[in-house]
Amino acid sequence: MYGAIIGDVAGSYYEILEARARKNKQIRSYMEKTMILDKNIPLFTEKSSCTDDSILTIAIMDAKLNNKDYKETLKEYGLRELELGKDIYNRGRFGKGFVKWLTGDYEGDSYGNGCAMRISSIGFLCNSLEEVKEESYKATIPSHNHEESIKCAEAVAVSIFLLRSGLPKEKLKEYIENNYFKLDYDLDDLRLNYLFTSRAIDSVPQAIYCFLESKNFENAIRISLSIGGDSDTIAAITGALAEAYYGVPEDLIEKVNPYLRDYMNPVLEKYYGKNKKKVLEAKHVKES
Ligand SMILES: [Mg+2]
Repeated sequence: MYGAIIGDVAGSYYEILEARARKNKQIRSYMEKTMILDKNIPLFTEKSSCTDDSILTIAIMDAKLNNKDYKETLKEYGLRELELGKDIYNRGRFGKGFVKWLTGDYEGDSYGNGCAMRISSIGFLCNSLEEVKEESYKATIPSHNHEESIKCAEAVAVSIFLLRSGLPKEKLKEYIENNYFKLDYDLDDLRLNYLFTSRAIDSVPQAIYCFLESKNFENAIRISLSIGGDSDTIAAITGALAEAYYGVPEDLIEKVNPYLRDYMNPVLEKYYGKNKKKVLEAKHVKES
């Protein structure tokens, strides 16, 4: 959750740059994309914001922690966010398809990556692989009842659960490739050729790959921002896996907290504790 939120807020500005480039049928240069790998470039600025990835991450977390219905909770959080009107970039709070689902009364069948950006708590809060798969399915189908979405959300939740359980990166790669999709990418190739897409099957594998290539939590976020595309969502997914593997550095929690909505705190505190101690525990790997 905190990993996903940090990825979302850090990626929010880059997603704007990527979407702008896509609109103008351009691709941001390799040099521009890789600047974020420099640790001196701040992850959070006045141009950063908390977006749908964080809002819906907390919605799923709230539902799972407090035994609420996933569909109702997603709608509650989504509709509350819609009331805020346009964001700081004069854009809608959610994609058009999700707004239609929020304000309508039907089952959503989106194949978008929204299913995976919000799923991390399932990997953190469930106690068995079976429970992870079952809850991931239940949390996904209200709005994303499409086979690609069900598969991608499950792959993220399962990855988090397995990393928490101590599975090494190489074994995770093997597991995901045998059960979900190939992860045979190259970072530089992605930086040069990867194009913006919100389709889950074309962005979730890339996000998992960025985590596999990372050296520590912050590096994972920076790598995920360096490939371009739907940056806040990709970084939210990479960040969620990085949290399960590395834990989250205290300074990043302090820096991201001012971007959160007030109503998120009780939900986060229920899992992490008042002093957020739980988030600081590296599960089994020290920062390198
Ligand atoms: Mg977003």
